Amino acid sequence: MTAPTAFTGTNGVSADVCVIGGGLHGCAAALHLAMRGKRVVVIEPHYPGRFASGVNAGGVRRLGRDPAEIPLAEASLEMWNNIASLVDDDCDFHACGQLKIAESEDDMAKLEARAGLVRDLGYDHERTIGREKLREIVPDVHPRAVGGLWCEGDGAADPMRTTRAFFEKAVATGVAFRLGERVTGLRRLGGQWRVETGKGAVTADAVLNCAGAWGDVIAGMMGDPVPLEAHALTMMVTERVRTFLTPVCGLASRKLSFKQTSAGTLLIGGAHLGYADRDSGVAEPDPLKMAISAATVSDAFPLVRNVRVARSWAGLEGVTPDRIPVIGPSHAADNAFHAFGFSAHGFQLGPVVGRLMAELIVDGKTNLPIAPFGVSRFAGQIRSIA
Ligand SMILES: Cc1cc2nc3c(=O)[nH]c(=O)nc-3n(C[C@H](O)[C@H](O)[C@H](O)COP(=O)(O)OP(=O)(O)OC[C@H]3O[C@@H](n4cnc5c(N)ncnc54)[C@H](O)[C@@H]3O)c2cc1C
Repeated sequence: MTAPTAFTGTNGVSADVCVIGGGLHGCAAALHLAMRGKRVVVIEPHYPGRFASGVNAGGVRRLGRDPAEIPLAEASLEMWNNIASLVDDDCDFHACGQLKIAESEDDMAKLEARAGLVRDLGYDHERTIGREKLREIVPDVHPRAVGGLWCEGDGAADPMRTTRAFFEKAVATGVAFRLGERVTGLRRLGGQWRVETGKGAVTADAVLNCAGAWGDVIAGMMGDPVPLEAHALTMMVTERVRTFLTPVCGLASRKLSFKQTSAGTLLIGGAHLGYADRDSGVAEPDPLKMAISAATVSDAFPLVRNVRVARSWAGLEGVTPDRIPVIGPSHAADNAFHAFGFSAHGFQLGPVVGRLMAELIVDGKTNLPIAPFGVSRFAGQIRSIA
């Protein structure tokens, strides 16, 4: 992707809503707000998708989610299934399914317990499968694998293409982007917010914090302490090989996220941590963790043992102590809102959280439950940074 040039629309200095951060969540919220008739300015120091949203694994996954996230993930999947009607691009979304593989009977018991929990909550999207069905779905899995947890409607999309599509549709809907500017301060002035950047200020009725791994910094400016850690999540991509893998695969007891792209390359992740320096915005893979990741995937799928790794990278992601995001109004300030800290699984939620933030800001309430994600759950906790 070529980096889009910064521009300031006529409404670039005053707005109904100022969105802080131009990742997928900032772009999605800005789009939905503009669709509801709001004048929106997004402030982004780099370009849309520069951090987590542009470099993630592209997994569109309901499988294994925290129960609080399931209603949102279900609604988001519906939006993914019609994503072109929202952003004029299919974002390369394909519902190839997501699978968690049991490598032992103990693993299988764990997956059965999980499927039971999801069923008890009233959902049926996660189903256990036995040896035979597993081999039908992934014929090349190691012979010792005994079964799995299968989530058929899940899938994957292209992360940068998705973020770009939301950005472009937001622009086409009237959103002004101030790229190359960083929010350095927030002040209340005569019932409005004055959002300071190194290059001027934006005045807005409401502010929305979509600053990803820096979300706690912006939350601090609003008076909401959040103990967020910046994690460097590592990914690897291999040379092209013949097509052999359809779904996105993980393992019940070991870290792995494994898929084959339409180009034939293998994308390997699984939340292995590299080195994060969020002050400089740098995330580097840890070679030792990459070796562990390569050994894990070669063990689970022996046919990839001699495939060469072409490239590796790491992306910065904001992770909360309870591994669920902060979504909702500020506890301390009026007309201030948060959507950050997606803790390694916010890509799938992008479409629906954008809609929910627009509902919250325009209607004062949301059509899906967001109470578990409230910022006040961290009141009294000390801020720590990895
Ligand atoms: C390697 C990796 C793999 C992942 N795999 C998956 C997956 O398969 N499935 C899934 O669902 N999720 C996955 N995730 C998580 C997902 O990518 C994130 O949860 C999601 O992209 C977060 O989007 P965001 O818009 O909140 O954050 P970001 O995309 O990080 O955007 C935040 C933006 O805020 C801007 N910003 C920061 N400070 C300021 C400031 N002071 N002023 C203005 N702007 C500011 C930044 O420049 C940045 O562009 C993965 C993440 C990584 C890193």
